[in-house]
Amino acid sequence: MNIHIEENVNLAQFTTMRVGGNARFFVRVASANELKEAVFFAREKKLPIFVLGGGSNTLVSGTGFPGLVMKIEIKGVDYSGTKIVVGAGEVWDEVVRDVVAHNMWGIENLSLIPGSVGGAVVQNVGAYGMEARETIFSVEALDTKTMAIKTFLNSKCEFGYRESIFKKNKNLIVLRTTLDLKEDSTPRTDYEDVKKYLAEQNISAPTLSMMRDIIIAIRTAKLPQPPLGTAGSFFKNPVVSSEQYEKIKKAFPEMKAYIQGDGTVKLSGAWLLDHVGRWKGVRTGDVGVHEKQALILVNYGSANADEIILLASEMKKSIKEKTGVTLEEEVVLL
Ligand SMILES: Cc1cc2nc3c(=O)[nH]c(=O)nc-3n(C[C@H](O)[C@H](O)[C@H](O)COP(=O)(O)OP(=O)(O)OC[C@H]3O[C@@H](n4cnc5c(N)ncnc54)[C@H](O)[C@@H]3O)c2cc1C
Repeated sequence: MNIHIEENVNLAQFTTMRVGGNARFFVRVASANELKEAVFFAREKKLPIFVLGGGSNTLVSGTGFPGLVMKIEIKGVDYSGTKIVVGAGEVWDEVVRDVVAHNMWGIENLSLIPGSVGGAVVQNVGAYGMEARETIFSVEALDTKTMAIKTFLNSKCEFGYRESIFKKNKNLIVLRTTLDLKEDSTPRTDYEDVKKYLAEQNISAPTLSMMRDIIIAIRTAKLPQPPLGTAGSFFKNPVVSSEQYEKIKKAFPEMKAYIQGDGTVKLSGAWLLDHVGRWKGVRTGDVGVHEKQALILVNYGSANADEIILLASEMKKSIKEKTGVTLEEEVVLL
């Protein structure tokens, strides 16, 4: 066996929320073959498996995980014209930095999102008017049911808002992705925070590298930075029917919302939690809601998973009672 399987490994250290119990078994895998070996090990022992990337969107429960956690460390960044093939274990933001340094457009607005490339594909990460799916050309994944490696072209990845086939189908483990970048493009500046920043700084035509710097400046000013424990937005922005939207709007005319092309409306979860639930900045002991962003739950030091889950459920309940809207977790609960 080439892989080194450890026992009773605490998972808090591998997540940005920094809470949670132990994995019964834990292994780091650096290639498709190592991953296959790990899957066979779990199969033999009849253990459930969990795939971990950078742990920036995962909340581990206090009881931990009774199976095998496989941490994906598959590396590699290979440029071929405007396409690059990237290993799932690469750090997403290091790839963004590298791509921008190569003068290629397509993922610059996704700067500073924590986590791995695999995680970014699975979650179809998005920020500041851009989503990963716009640039993902294809994804190579191991199907643990058949143990075959398959390539999914973008159209087969079933990408949606923080959704993909790899998130829905737990048998698929992302090994690599091919990104299709552009040598020339115009900066994506239509997002509110970006427009505001450009106006304040008197910038009219930002270059590619300026765009990355701008996104980093906006994010650094607004989002929690280490040592605070967080998993980013705890909830997704809820998507409701236009009828439900009209009803809620009557009670809350100021509500921020975005009409979608398919007749649904995406509501700002942060606005609801802030203005309807009054959750922004609420803190009990070491667990709280970030003071600048109500979608973000924070472990200020020694919070535990149960406290975080309790706070999240109280937040959900208050929004449900006042608006009828069900907030869904963006964070993966393990
Ligand atoms: C401060 C902060 C800011 C954030 N800002 C944003 C943001 O602006 N936009 C945004 O979209 N997200 C944001 N996030 C959330 C998070 O960074 C992303 O979802 C990220 O892509 C998760 O990647 P990860 O490798 O850390 O995933 P993990 O937390 O390790 O895993 C997340 C899920 O993906 C699965 N997974 C991971 N790797 C693989 C793989 N190779 N194959 C199959 N399944 C896999 C896991 O099983 C799990 O279900 C933020 C998080 C933090 C802490």
